[in-house]
Amino acid sequence: MTTLVFVEHHEGEAAKGSLGVLAKAAGLGGDVAAAVVGENVRGVAEGLGAHGASRVYVAEDASLAAPLPQPRVDVLARLVQDEGIDTVLFAASVLAADVAAALAARLGAGLNWDLVDLESRDGTLVGTTLAFGDTAKVEVGWKSEPRLGLFRSGAFDPAPGDGGAPELRDVPVEVEEWSTQTAMLEQAHEESSGPSIEDADVIVAGGRGLGEAEKFALLEELAKALGGAVAATRAVVDAGWYPYATQVGQTGKNVSPKLYVACGISGAIQHKVGMQGSGTIVAINKDPNAPIFEYADLAVVGDLHEIVPKLTELVRQARS
Ligand SMILES: Cc1cc2nc3c(=O)[nH]c(=O)nc-3n(C[C@H](O)[C@H](O)[C@H](O)COP(=O)(O)OP(=O)(O)OC[C@H]3O[C@@H](n4cnc5c(N)ncnc54)[C@H](O)[C@@H]3O)c2cc1C
Repeated sequence: MTTLVFVEHHEGEAAKGSLGVLAKAAGLGGDVAAAVVGENVRGVAEGLGAHGASRVYVAEDASLAAPLPQPRVDVLARLVQDEGIDTVLFAASVLAADVAAALAARLGAGLNWDLVDLESRDGTLVGTTLAFGDTAKVEVGWKSEPRLGLFRSGAFDPAPGDGGAPELRDVPVEVEEWSTQTAMLEQAHEESSGPSIEDADVIVAGGRGLGEAEKFALLEELAKALGGAVAATRAVVDAGWYPYATQVGQTGKNVSPKLYVACGISGAIQHKVGMQGSGTIVAINKDPNAPIFEYADLAVVGDLHEIVPKLTELVRQARS
């Protein structure tokens, strides 16, 4: 069995979600390879042995510089056919979802979407996905090869990174004429200091209990003191208090930091499904009956406007 993991990268760094999927694939055993596609990506490829890839296919070309799906589908489709790859795995992102769907169409392959786990049962791959608002687990499989799977973001942690150097294999890049019909005209990058919520070990998340958008400054201060990132509930994102990219939950992102500090968040099921994999959950809420206290490791009943600034001060003192 040869499993290929599509490794996405940004500014010379492999995405944490892709590394998590690579670690999962390596844990299942068999021959695990990675594909890195882009321009000047050799540095990304070299680091992947540490994360579980024994072999990395490197497709480098100027036509792959922009993060557009179709040229990547051309590269992957040829790779899967030429190398006899039977399983291709992706970590969810806007780009990966487009690539996975188009690759499935191109190869006539089955794609299981939104997976949260994968196991090998007597040599048969069985995926897990969630249904009914994430309240039920459903096992899914594939009827044919190649099998394609797209995992939810944050489904797995990357491996500790102590593997050896991978074998690098250059892949010839032949892009179909129709794949060159789309061009990236402009890319906007969100200005942020500190880690993204997908990569952060500490997340300070805010909900409607903050009262107004300006109060997110309190959480930014605490996150800065803890070296973490700020996240939000859908209620405040919908209200325009904080960017959509920071939304955690069913229709936002799945995160699994070591520490999740929920401030003024009720703990609705749709929020819970996006953060319940966190190591330690601390909730600050003035309502002692708030649902979030049912799954918080540490419950702080009180007004966040008083507690958060004091907490920030204590963290700063402890760190100085
Ligand atoms: C299909 C669907 C998908 C959804 N997807 C998501 C999703 O991805 N992510 C998500 O988050 N939600 C999602 N939701 C919305 C979800 O159901 C909740 O409405 C939302 O999470 C509530 O956000 P909140 O906790 O900020 O607000 P609220 O539920 O209004 O809670 C505010 C909390 O703040 C507390 N509070 C108030 N003042 C203070 C204070 N001064 N100090 C301390 N605590 C205080 C209150 O006691 C309360 O518990 C979805 C809903 C649906 C139907």
